[in-house]
Amino acid sequence: LLSLEGATVRFGGRAVLDGVDLEVDEHEIVCVLGPSGSGKSTLLRAVAGLQPLDAGRVSLDWRDQAGVPAHKRGVGLMFQDHQLFPQRDVGGNVAFGARMHGASKGEQAERVRELLDLVGLPGAAGRAVASLSGGEQQRVALARALAPRPRLLMLDEPLGQLDRSLRERLVVELRELFGRLGTTVLAVTHDQGEAFALADRVVVMRDGRIAQSGTPLEVWQRPVDEFVARFLGFDN
Ligand code: ATP
Ligand code: MG
Repeated sequence: LLSLEGATVRFGGRAVLDGVDLEVDEHEIVCVLGPSGSGKSTLLRAVAGLQPLDAGRVSLDWRDQAGVPAHKRGVGLMFQDHQLFPQRDVGGNVAFGARMHGASKGEQAERVRELLDLVGLPGAAGRAVASLSGGEQQRVALARALAPRPRLLMLDEPLGQLDRSLRERLVVELRELFGRLGTTVLAVTHDQGEAFALADRVVVMRDGRIAQSGTPLEVWQRPVDEFVARFLGFDN
């Protein structure tokens, strides 16, 4: 479904993405791990079409996406800092994604209800965004990202602000949901437990490159180098 070949992004002469090669298959759930500043968010933004490449390419279904604007790529992105619409209520935020993809009014309302239930905010559709806590806003952003049912969903620290028990519950429900809808997922997380519970494959980034890619068990049992071993050891 997704393929990056030599994807490179430079800021002020420094390669923040440095020749990244990555393939994500249909229905695969891939989690991206790595230290702060290693290029995880930049990778997602490049795939979404929000960050132009300085070299290399991003392909979806084998089609080079150079020049294809973000809204035409058919991918969903939940930002690290959620970016909800403050002037719309919770329901309006979640419905927005569905509306963009041509769902009818009835379908939209049904999907809003279903998704708010999923993220543990039943009945919150009429609430103002400003009245929600950070973690509640994050859950609304997650529901909004899920609403259009994109084929490729990219999540940047989707559960970062939530407490452990809620995170553990959502990880299980999300995995089930992605399986049911056949969604392909590329998700950034800081939380190893989350990556290992959610992912079919994990990708560890270091300084704009992929240090290791493999099943959670492979990476955990056989880190390729000291960097990966330390990163896994010190994280958490
Ligand atoms: P975190 O875990 O903290 O979210 P990250 O792995 O997502 O980190 P990125 O946001 O991809 O990291 O950033 C990678 C590097 O690129 C950082 O050093 C960042 O400062 C730099 N960077 C990102 N965007 C820009 C920009 N628009 N202009 C200049 N530098 C940028
Ligand atoms: Mg980031």
